Amino acid sequence: MMSSPKSSPMEIYVHIPFCIKKCDYCDFLSGPSGPKEQEAYVKALLGEINAVTEGTGRSVSSIFIGGGTPSVLDENFIGDILKTIRTKFSIQADAEITIEVNPGTADDRKLQAYRKYGINRLSIGLQSPDDRELKILGRIHNYDQFLRTYHSARKAGFDNINIDLMSAIPDQTYEGWIRNLRTAAELKPEHISAYSLIIEEGTPFAMRYLNLPDEDTEYEMYEATARILREYGFEQYEISNYAQKDRACRHNIGYWTRQDYLGFGLGAASLYGKERFANTADRKKYQENSTRPELIREKEPTLTTEDEMAEFMFLGLRMIRGIAKADFSDAFGCPIEEIYGNVLEKYEAMGLLREENGRIFLSREGIHVSNSVMSEFLL
Ligand code: SF4
Repeated sequence: MMSSPKSSPMEIYVHIPFCIKKCDYCDFLSGPSGPKEQEAYVKALLGEINAVTEGTGRSVSSIFIGGGTPSVLDENFIGDILKTIRTKFSIQADAEITIEVNPGTADDRKLQAYRKYGINRLSIGLQSPDDRELKILGRIHNYDQFLRTYHSARKAGFDNINIDLMSAIPDQTYEGWIRNLRTAAELKPEHISAYSLIIEEGTPFAMRYLNLPDEDTEYEMYEATARILREYGFEQYEISNYAQKDRACRHNIGYWTRQDYLGFGLGAASLYGKERFANTADRKKYQENSTRPELIREKEPTLTTEDEMAEFMFLGLRMIRGIAKADFSDAFGCPIEEIYGNVLEKYEAMGLLREENGRIFLSREGIHVSNSVMSEFLL
């Protein structure tokens, strides 16, 4: 039966809900703020980290500081957060420690401070090297500012950098996307995340007429992404993620393989053994109660074995290598066919799932309809 042995390493996520301004497509838990608000938030965050009872005595294999835009914070706050985490938890010497950074918010001094704090991976939100597209998205920066951040990061010693790119931007053509991809790949980052734009309810994009690429163009853009990035040495390892050898994001692989993680901060989610819970998204409530984690957590019902099996499948199938049948039987004490025989047979016959060397994974066609394939694993 699957539940994480408490001796296995876990991961930590820290949410910073601040941005200079809201992008027009974004529905993340983030927004503009002043220095006083930032200080109060960090204080509450440190209080929460100090107060949790989970995770003591377990080693931590990765820390991810995400947002929002964590780099809007004064670098000393990031130092305080990491110091508190290190005091409370046992961080592995080779832990992957990532921070998300947006161009225009991280100068040389900040990036050097991050290195000093032990941060060894940067994820930079570029989205597009085309200034016209950046304007359409409502981003705060242009491509030149991104380049300055990228080169400063290299100068500060970061040798593990992700660039976030977005496809299917309004008015974007197939050729435009390919140009964007090549521009980013030529900078030789270690990792590229390429997501297509999703129009989220309640965002300015949802209320505007947008000239979006049609489905066929999106399909072609997606297929070309893996092909072109391969020319530059990137292997696709997940539906939207591409990495140079040994540079896949260990933190995200932890999510997809259901490693335990604790999330700190506003709205941050956790998986701990059979429990999934998330902090409140109400900033006032969070800040007033963060030293009593039980008051800020919204708990989901304890995971049943059926829930864990379903998660094992739909998270694992996000990875291009898919899942190992032996891992399923080790975790749940029965062969995968006993639970999912019919679904596997159906999708293998349709050419959407494939099986090779004891692993089951989505075919290229399967990736394009991954949501409907994965939904069939819910028991
Ligand atoms: S920078 Fe990121 S988190 Fe902030 S508003 Fe833009 S997309 Fe959202």
